[in-house]
Amino acid sequence: MSLFSNTETAFIVKSDGQLLKAWWLFKMVSFPRLVKFGKVLLAIARFLHVPIKWMVKPTIFAHFCGGETLESCAPVVERLAAHNVRSILDYSVEGKESEEDITAALDETLRAVRHAAADVNIPFAVFKPTAFAPFEILEKAAAGELRTETEKAEAAKFEKRLETLFRAAWEGNEPIMIDAEETWIQSHIDGVVHRMMETYNTKKAIVYNTLQMYRHDRLSFLEKALAAAEKGNYFLGIKLVRGAYMEKERARAEKLGYPSPIHPDKPATDKAYDDALTFCVEHIDRISVFNGTHNEASCLHLMGLLKKKGLPSNDPRVYSSQLCGMSDHISFNMARAGYNVAKYIPYGPVKHVLPYLIRRAEENTAVAGQTGRELRLLSEERKRRKAARAAAR
Ligand SMILES: Cc1cc2nc3c(=O)[nH]c(=O)nc-3n(C[C@H](O)[C@H](O)[C@H](O)COP(=O)(O)OP(=O)(O)OC[C@H]3O[C@@H](n4cnc5c(N)ncnc54)[C@H](O)[C@@H]3O)c2cc1C
Repeated sequence: MSLFSNTETAFIVKSDGQLLKAWWLFKMVSFPRLVKFGKVLLAIARFLHVPIKWMVKPTIFAHFCGGETLESCAPVVERLAAHNVRSILDYSVEGKESEEDITAALDETLRAVRHAAADVNIPFAVFKPTAFAPFEILEKAAAGELRTETEKAEAAKFEKRLETLFRAAWEGNEPIMIDAEETWIQSHIDGVVHRMMETYNTKKAIVYNTLQMYRHDRLSFLEKALAAAEKGNYFLGIKLVRGAYMEKERARAEKLGYPSPIHPDKPATDKAYDDALTFCVEHIDRISVFNGTHNEASCLHLMGLLKKKGLPSNDPRVYSSQLCGMSDHISFNMARAGYNVAKYIPYGPVKHVLPYLIRRAEENTAVAGQTGRELRLLSEERKRRKAARAAAR
């Protein structure tokens, strides 16, 4: 029996009703046409200001999110902590670019950083860089095309906002991660984040950058980042993910006629991901690594690396993480075996979190294997509970 096949542990925090609801949810998102139709319907409803919260909140929102506010996530955080699974509260309001919205996002993220620092069950703070500058500014900065004084001032404001967050995290001794985004803005983000590591990572990794291993340049990027950290005598915080924008990246490369930055196939991405894990654990004295994946083989690979190197399963420099509502069989079984695990828990007002929820639904439609896996595990656990109840009678 594999470590991940224990469904009793996987769904220990879910009631029978929640199991059934989750099954129906994954069943529905397994139909691409239904997801497309739902997306259009939601867009129309939002445009016409038709209330949809009554429908979204108890279903897809309840499954993939922690609550509408930081405070309302507390029961979820406690429920997970009772089973050794920690939480990372992610303010998931997306696509807002006005000065007023950016200031509001900064205030809320700052509050989330301080909230995390005060709670041992929240080992990281996190944010999306695109919440803190208009996309166009990040794009121009990455291309070295900031022309006007206004554009330069906007880019400076972005850096200052990030510095505010990193400083608050450093003051609270709370590690903080920045999500990775599209390649055509990422080089600017990488530059800013690595400057912050020089300042805030002198004693341990507080600032974490994210590397998308579907990019074929990321292993050499990691090697160079380590060389710079050794030279500058600071620590590297590295969150590894495979990457979420593959189709978009390939389509843009083709349209504009440059070579795709993405590995040619899935096995190449898988190999790069596992090689990056190996590299980080081999250099654990300098690198703290965050394994952000739903891939069982990569998690097993990480466990093997820790064992080989003689590190305890709960070494504080190594964490694994899955998104709320997905791959609980990995999270809860790894946590039960003594590994550091934290769930990414999005929160925010229902209507503002919709883009995140739509992406989750689309991702689960596209990754047919993953949806199938969730459905199978949920069915197995429902059957197991039924049999256990019958045996107890
Ligand atoms: C905790 C956490 C945090 C995350 N943060 C970010 C983030 O900051 N930025 C971000 O971009 N994503 C982020 N993601 C999403 C992540 O990048 C993946 O999209 C998602 O987790 C699926 O990959 P996987 O490793 O879980 O599983 P798998 O199902 O094994 O891998 C699927 C992934 O493999 C890659 N892939 C699939 N087909 C091909 C192909 N034909 N050629 C090359 N590569 C292929 C793609 O990246 C795809 O998403 C995060 C995920 C988690 C769990």
